[in-house]
Amino acid sequence: MSVISDQIKIITETLPDGVELVAVSKFHPVEALKEAYDAGQRIFGESRVQEISQKRLLMPDDVQWHFIGHLQTNKVRQLVPYVSLIHSVDSIKLLESINAESARIGKVVDVLLQLHVAQEETKFGFTCEDCVDLVDKGVLDRLPNVRVCGVMGMATNTDDMVKVREEFKSIKNVFDTLKQRYFADKPYFKEISMGMSDDFHIAMEEGSTLVRIGTTIFGSRGY
Ligand SMILES: *Cc1c(COP(=O)(O)O)cnc(C)c1O
Repeated sequence: MSVISDQIKIITETLPDGVELVAVSKFHPVEALKEAYDAGQRIFGESRVQEISQKRLLMPDDVQWHFIGHLQTNKVRQLVPYVSLIHSVDSIKLLESINAESARIGKVVDVLLQLHVAQEETKFGFTCEDCVDLVDKGVLDRLPNVRVCGVMGMATNTDDMVKVREEFKSIKNVFDTLKQRYFADKPYFKEISMGMSDDFHIAMEEGSTLVRIGTTIFGSRGY
């Protein structure tokens, strides 16, 4: 058995009920994805539209492609036809663009709202207030071709696991606030995408439903 398939099995076996693994395969060759696929993995996460567009042609049809990187509006048209979940929606402009493209091809695309909780200034995303505004002002009602299924967030890149845990708690808090305020009767609003190689155990303890794991499965990325 290869290291990749070993890791897929080890991680999958430790996931509690209700948590799914997104195998983050960005920057890794298709051969690596195929090994993961052969070990039973079906959800793959990629962060660049060009890369995902090429890889998907070389992989079986039942792969679910999740987009996790910063998405530019001019790449939306290319991505929307085949993507199954966009984790990283970080602006109203992007929501509108995804809605327009999805409407054009008669599709409803599932997305998550990316939250800004980490300390790093470069992180994109919505604050809790932005999200509440979004629903209170009826923005989502105007966008019937996007279906907001939950939230996504990244903790600060730090060894301070107390801080990481606090940030995961605040992501869960935003989820709960939105659920209560707007999505209480919408069963599809159920995803909390948080946790990467170094912190997914903590993320799961704090309520994650989608863990995005790259390095632990595929090794380090040669950028
Ligand atoms: C690259 C990436 C991951 C995977 O990170 P690892 O530390 O390799 O597990 C998860 N989420 C996002 C948004 C990423 O860009």
